[in-house]
Amino acid sequence: MPYPHLLAPLDLGHVTLPNRVLMGSMHTGLEDRARDYGKLAAYFAERARGGVGLIVTGGIAPSIQGWLAPLGGRLSMPWHVARHRQVTRAVHGEGGRICLQILHGGRYGYHPLSVAPSPIKAPITPFTPRALSARGIERTIGDFVNCARKAQDAGYDGVEVMGSEGYLINEFLAERSNRRNDDWGGSVERRQRFPVEIVRRMRAAVGSDFIIIYRLSMLDLVEGGQSWDEVVALARKVEAAGASLINSGIGWHESRVPTIVTSVPRAAFSWVTRRLKGEVAIPLITSNRINMPEVAERILAAGDADLVSMARPFLADPQWVAKARAGRADDINTCIACNQACLDHVFEHKRASCLVNPRACHETELRLEPAQARKRIAVVGAGPAGLACATTLAERGHAVTLFEQAERIGGQFNLAMRIPGKEEFAQTLRHFARRIDQTGVELRLSTRADAPMLRDFDEVVLASGVRPRTLSLPGADRANVLSYLDVLQDHAAVGPRVAIIGAGGIGFDVAEFLVENAPSPTTDIARWSREWGVDMSLQARAGLLPPAPAPPERELWLLQRTPGKPGKRLNRTTGWVHRATLAAKRVTMLGGVGYERIDEAGLHLRIDGAARCLAVDTIVVCAGQESNRELQSALAAIGRSVHRIGGADLATELDAKRAIDQGTRLAARL
Ligand code: FAD
Ligand code: NAP
Ligand code: SF4
Repeated sequence: MPYPHLLAPLDLGHVTLPNRVLMGSMHTGLEDRARDYGKLAAYFAERARGGVGLIVTGGIAPSIQGWLAPLGGRLSMPWHVARHRQVTRAVHGEGGRICLQILHGGRYGYHPLSVAPSPIKAPITPFTPRALSARGIERTIGDFVNCARKAQDAGYDGVEVMGSEGYLINEFLAERSNRRNDDWGGSVERRQRFPVEIVRRMRAAVGSDFIIIYRLSMLDLVEGGQSWDEVVALARKVEAAGASLINSGIGWHESRVPTIVTSVPRAAFSWVTRRLKGEVAIPLITSNRINMPEVAERILAAGDADLVSMARPFLADPQWVAKARAGRADDINTCIACNQACLDHVFEHKRASCLVNPRACHETELRLEPAQARKRIAVVGAGPAGLACATTLAERGHAVTLFEQAERIGGQFNLAMRIPGKEEFAQTLRHFARRIDQTGVELRLSTRADAPMLRDFDEVVLASGVRPRTLSLPGADRANVLSYLDVLQDHAAVGPRVAIIGAGGIGFDVAEFLVENAPSPTTDIARWSREWGVDMSLQARAGLLPPAPAPPERELWLLQRTPGKPGKRLNRTTGWVHRATLAAKRVTMLGGVGYERIDEAGLHLRIDGAARCLAVDTIVVCAGQESNRELQSALAAIGRSVHRIGGADLATELDAKRAIDQGTRLAARL
């Protein structure tokens, strides 16, 4: 067996899980409307078919006050049960098992009815919660128990009680958010009563043949969070109260330490779960940045935990477990932890999906049926758009030729994966390379397609991407003015004082590339933890120490014309990490800049009307891109039309999410 620890069954008494893989809770947006439960059922069924040991749903509120957002998913009334039955039937029909996560949003609830132990507003919501009265607390415990009973009626195999990430239960546990001085606050013992009572009364209500997972905040990573001794004490009480399993929660949503983005090292927090081993007898689940079988196997073999939880990796690849079992880990479509189509969507109140798998959460709508007639199709450009399109077309049965002028596939993703902290992006290209081999796409590398080559195909797809925008500034042709391609692709020499023109995603990435002075911290958990202020000795309260970033390699200015601080348009859940990284490296970030000229003295500009010269030795231009579609007019001249996707279609606001989605959707239609 390829992964003996990962694929070992786990006996929970009344039920045996077939392996040690838990699909962790992940809000998708499909939980929020009754009419979407058919789609939700199809989404989970596909994951159950792929062999995951146990699934946990996205968070479902036990009451209106517990909503994450107005009209969010809730299970509290008899008429809610039927919609959940669709989910449990679909999962059981595939031989899977599923638990419902009960999540009370507490002060993170994005609505005016939110409640909390004390009326203290969270820094990430505009609403000040109402403090629960003692009767309100009793009622809320009852809501959790009622929700668990209804989950049992709906056919779930168990529930997960969400006790981490800074939601209601976590808020009771920490002095930061619990300033009460009654039976539910004022001492550690009293702050811990709330979760213990929930688990105790829930177990009494559901009986012994029902899984109760308790998601325990092991590392709060916020000022005024819990100490390690408090965490251990709570774990013991929760076990005694009747929990079947303890899952690891790391960090509150308001924490300023990243916990799941791509620059967090793989398995960066399994050492925390390890510290709890031996303190309780029930199995422990570890989580955060585990995305491939060898990582999971290493954790389990080292005895850090009894199960691993992965959420986003199952958006990326529903067949993750089946592929690991078959010894085909190389075929896994790896989650690159970009958050772009999953968490970013959730925070924008859009349905979640996956950058590398646009079918995620769209299983019933984005169907890939076998082609009715086999066509000869040319795809020009093997960037993310062309790769997604070519492989999907071939999977449907078309005869596909993929032209790429470079020596390797990947387009701009080859640059993205060179950025420190974005090494995971290489996994997407590894996966596409496998799909090309398996689907029989004819790949022509080092071949620049021209109109005559494309004349005889039934269809032509133009996926020729983008090229960097050049500047028309006086002095822009000097030798010390480089494009991001010169720096990332051609390894051009860069001096110690650098100005970057353009502060979009690429400007930020190039800045991170230029200030990093050692191998990427993503490869070294101890160094990464030190840099972000995570106390691996667990002596500091909430695991927080002052951050200790390594000194920057260069002095750097990151500039944009738009007024205001650069970085506001970066992605919702990851932008703050990029801004914090560059601030820690003392990068000067300036908005409202007018560029005037470049000469031997440096870059001349105006800021708020005042002239200034930055005495830099290198200037790197990251001023956006333009579509590369010259082939389209050459083809039009010989009477051929094309389908355009990715950057070739539209350079504005292009990213790999749109490129892959557009390529896949076109391929589903042709
Ligand atoms: P491209 O990636 O540009 O690919 C086009 C391909 O076509 C190229 O390989 C080119 O050689 C080939 N080609 C062109 N003309 C011809 C021809 N005539 N014949 C044969 N081949 C041809 N996006 C994100 O979503 N998230 C990120 O975190 C992210 N980070 C990035 C970091 C950096 C440093 C960079 C540079 C980009 C990043 N991007 C990111 C952007 C992302 O990589 C692009 O949006 C995406 O690659 C666009 O895909 P595409 O297939 O349309 O074009
Ligand atoms: P971008 O985000 O559009 O940023 C372009 C930058 O160039 C802006 O700061 C813009 O700011 C500036 N600019 C535009 N025209 C200019 C001109 N004529 N002269 C000087 N400055 C000019 O594009 P990008 O950084 O090239 O990134 C391309 C795409 O890749 C983006 O859409 C992004 O989504 C994606 N990407 C994503 C990530 C990620 O982490 N998700 C990372 C990298 C790239 P001003 O106009 O204010 O000067
Ligand atoms: Fe992973 Fe990115 Fe897909 Fe989210 S969108 S599941 S982070 S690859």
